[in-house]
Amino acid sequence: MSFKVKYDNISTALMTIYQRLYHYFGPRHWWPAETPFEVIVGAILTQNVTWKNVEKAINNLKTAELLTPEALYTADPSVIETHIRPAGFYRTKAKKLKAFVHHIWEKYDGSLTNMFSQPLKNLRKELLSIYGIGPETADAILCYAGNYPIMVMDAYTLRVFSRLGLLSPKANYEEMQQLFMDNLPHDHYIFNEYHALIDALANKICRKNKPHCNLCPLNDLCAWPKEEKENKKAEKEA
Ligand code: SF4
Repeated sequence: MSFKVKYDNISTALMTIYQRLYHYFGPRHWWPAETPFEVIVGAILTQNVTWKNVEKAINNLKTAELLTPEALYTADPSVIETHIRPAGFYRTKAKKLKAFVHHIWEKYDGSLTNMFSQPLKNLRKELLSIYGIGPETADAILCYAGNYPIMVMDAYTLRVFSRLGLLSPKANYEEMQQLFMDNLPHDHYIFNEYHALIDALANKICRKNKPHCNLCPLNDLCAWPKEEKENKKAEKEA
């Protein structure tokens, strides 16, 4: 797979893609939450489940007045489990929420402001040491709750950018993140919007099966439709 248009450097290619997506979808205004703590809870609950189910769980926590670090810290795990049930894996996710609030309570007196006053590199390492927080969740917390200049990677990023020929389909999380972090200005707004725009493209157009390439704002940059056609033709002839 190869990128169809030749650019002087990868930064220009990434910025061109960003501008195309921004122009097409408009600003995404992520993350859909009222407070940084709600972002964090959402980032943990959204693991392996659709956002629609997460919304239900978050609304349950809100109605029960459990959506604060203090309330979750003191709540009985079984109570948390009941409220987050719509988000699936509710026992494990209740443990993850408990582990997170325990950490900020022990280390930062329950204050997210204190936690987010740490340098990016240190805090990322710290978040990754908490039970249930992997790179995607840590980066979502850092970018969307802490406003740090870091970009979140996910399966959508891999799908779109491997089809565009800018990532290997086997790239791991660090390799994916390196592509963006090494070639874009470290600007929180760009990283925030870029991830959300990729999500919009992968959800609506660059779908796993039968992507709508004819509607894609990156169509003229992407070699995938032509190559896919050729691959299918070759399969038929074989
Ligand atoms: S939708 Fe089609 S043209 Fe657009 S990025 Fe995906 S594979 Fe390429």
